[in-house]
Order: sequence, then structure tokens, then C-alpha cells
Amino acid sequence: MPGARRAEYLRAIGIDRWIPQNRSGEAAPPAPAPAAPGGDATPPGRAGAETAEAPWEALRAEILECTKCPLHESRTQGVVGVGNREADWMVIGEAPGAEEDRRGEPFVGRAGKLLDAMLLSLGLRRTANVYIANILKSRPPGNRDPRPEEVAACLPYLTRQIELVRPKLLLAVGRIAAQNLLSSDAPLGRLRGRVHRFGERDTPLVVTYHPAYLLRSPADKRKAWEDLKLARSVLRQTMAGIPTDGDRS
Ligand code: URA
Repeated sequence: MPGARRAEYLRAIGIDRWIPQNRSGEAAPPAPAPAAPGGDATPPGRAGAETAEAPWEALRAEILECTKCPLHESRTQGVVGVGNREADWMVIGEAPGAEEDRRGEPFVGRAGKLLDAMLLSLGLRRTANVYIANILKSRPPGNRDPRPEEVAACLPYLTRQIELVRPKLLLAVGRIAAQNLLSSDAPLGRLRGRVHRFGERDTPLVVTYHPAYLLRSPADKRKAWEDLKLARSVLRQTMAGIPTDGDRS
């Protein structure tokens, strides 16, 4: 990525100056994949694309018709997910907000713009290199925290999405995503800075701040950048077959 563009993205996430430690391992600027607005992108030219599409279509229909919790009464629509269904990175947030509820796509409001900048600082684009989904597929009224029974009803959809994408790395943004994915009530500060594991495939999981929190507390953007670098190094190590357990220290 050209230096000026990277500097712009880094400034957006509150990092004024960044000296890369290993330029050779940087993500190349990706070509955006064709994606329907608000929809998921399935890479073109993929063998068996039609069969690969079927479980996604079934899941999408289930989510859009879901009435398992009362949130379906107040939502405009279910918000499934967006991005590359074969991405190495999967970002998991909390729940749709007002803008996401209206447009049917996760992270499209102010927090989403910051999330995009955070991803772009790593050379990642939402339509090409990541898949983005939420713990809840329906908006809680007034953006209140999800209730345990809503999470219990909705989490199987996310688990299914993770099974279908088979990401090499999960990035949980915010306390709600982190605590629910890790079945923990530890504060976010204790969940950051470590490599966790998720699910039967032991997928590495890294926790960072929610971009909405970072908009309110920009001083913590620097720590979020540390988290992103941790996630990137974990993914690189995973791809090189190097064990990644433990703290970043
Ligand atoms: N916050 C989230 O956690 N998810 C969204 O999709 C939007 C805002």
C-alpha cells in the first residue's frame, strides 16, 4: 500500500507515525471483490460455487425469517453479514445499530467507518479480505445490550457462519462479542493481548475494542492498533504453521 494512503488510514485510527517492522510480510493491496451492496461476496470462478451457495442461501433465509426472539418485532430486517465468504479474517461485532437495521449490512454507521479504517490500515477491505458478522442479527431497541436469551437464540447463526467461512482468524470487537464468543465474564481489558481459541477447529481469536468505544475514547486507538498487529502476526504464524498460543510478550 502506498505510504501516503497507509498514513491516512493510520491517522484515522489515531496513529500518527508507524514504522513497519517487516515490510516483506505486509498484506498486498487487495482488489475489491464484486459484492452486492449489503450482501456477501462469493469469489468468482470458484469450483462448485453453486453447491457452496446453497447453505448460505438457506442460512440467509432462516435469519431473515427468524422469530426466535422478540427482536424480530421491532427490527426492520435481519442483518446477516458482509464480505468474502472465504476470507481468512472474520470480524465479529455485537449487533446491528439503527443504520445497519435500515440498510441490512453490518457496520455501516460511524463505527463502521472507523472499522473500515482499522481494516484498511492492515491492507484489508470489507468486501475482499474479511467477512463481518454480529453476535445478534437483529437490532436491540435503542441499541441496548443484547439479553442472554437473545444471544442464546441467535448465536447458532453465527456459529454456522464461522463453520461456513472457516476463517483462519477471528477478531472480536468489543466486550459483548468477546465475552459471548469466549463464554467469559472477564472485562475486555483482561481479554485483550492474548490469543484465545474458538470452536472445534480451535480457530485463533483476538479481542479488541469496539470502534464505537474508540470514537468515544480515542486515546485507546493506540491499544487497538496493538491488537490489530497481534491479530496480523497470529494469522501469519498460523499460515506458516507456527504455534500461536499465549501472550504477545
Ligand atoms: N456495532 C456492531 O457491533 N455491529 C454493527 O453491525 C454495527 C455497530
